[in-house]
Amino acid sequence: MMQIFIPLNFLGFVYREMKGSLANIEKMFSLLRVPPAIEDREAALELVVTDGRVVFEDVHFAYRADREILKGVSFSVEPRQKVAIVGASGAGKSTLFKLLFRFYDPCDGRITIDGQDIRAVSQSSLRAAIGVVPQDAVLFNQSILENVRYGRVGASDEEVMAAIRHAQLEAFVHELPEGVHTVVGERGLKLSGGEKQRVAIARALLKHPPIMVFDEATSSLDSRSERGILGALRQVASEQTTLVIAHRLSTVVDADVILVLDRGRIVERGSHTQLLAAQGHYAALWYLQQEERHSAADTPQAGG
Ligand code: ADP
Ligand code: MG
Repeated sequence: MMQIFIPLNFLGFVYREMKGSLANIEKMFSLLRVPPAIEDREAALELVVTDGRVVFEDVHFAYRADREILKGVSFSVEPRQKVAIVGASGAGKSTLFKLLFRFYDPCDGRITIDGQDIRAVSQSSLRAAIGVVPQDAVLFNQSILENVRYGRVGASDEEVMAAIRHAQLEAFVHELPEGVHTVVGERGLKLSGGEKQRVAIARALLKHPPIMVFDEATSSLDSRSERGILGALRQVASEQTTLVIAHRLSTVVDADVILVLDRGRIVERGSHTQLLAAQGHYAALWYLQQEERHSAADTPQAGG
């Protein structure tokens, strides 16, 4: 009896574990919304990143034939530059990122990295070159240490700890009873949006890709979390080509170039100072957000 009982019990354990991780994988794919359509060309080359220059050339894109989402978008991100994309919800910002990742191909125009059309290179080499900090990072039911290690499987504990430190997660981790060994995720400790995002930043720091893509959280982080994330982002961005989708304009002030996307077209581009002087879309958005800030600061709030 015992001989049968033990393996069955063990199978139950394996099943539960698998069920847990499958749920995670399903969730991950649904979050990434990976369409199966894109395949590597037969003779796909490996992407060779020399400088990290990203160029969109007259990119048109439609999810459905009857509705064009991107209507001829052109811009370039020079090596080590930080380019921010701002614009109303639905303008097409996240779609730009999905095309850069080749979850879809443009209907017209092209995207190159250091002169190589991303359709001509393998998807694995493309994705290895780009680090993403998504709005809502997926955490696995594992310790914080292991969650960060996904950035570069094989990294030593010391390297993972350094990434945690640079992502400004250390103080948070210190307060947890089991420190970096605390299990997070659906069945563990639930992290806030800002904390999850810092785990994603730590992963990106560990991966250290030549191109970084950052989809800033829309959820209203408190100003302390925002400062923490900004500091961590600066660490990530200092040596890499960086593209940021910014909802809060306070995070784009230091960008080299700000692109204002409106209904699938870039309607303004320039630095923060240039765009304020232009008194257009960006300036209007800036003054609006400044007002919101001040009225929020005037309202007394419990716990500050
Ligand atoms: P943003 O990030 O600027 O808010 P998105 O790029 O996410 O905008 O979306 C641009 C437009 O494309 C929106 O109107 C959105 O509804 C539409 N869209 C986004 N993803 C899909 C999809 N998978 N299928 C069809 N339409 C989509
Ligand atoms: Mg978006």
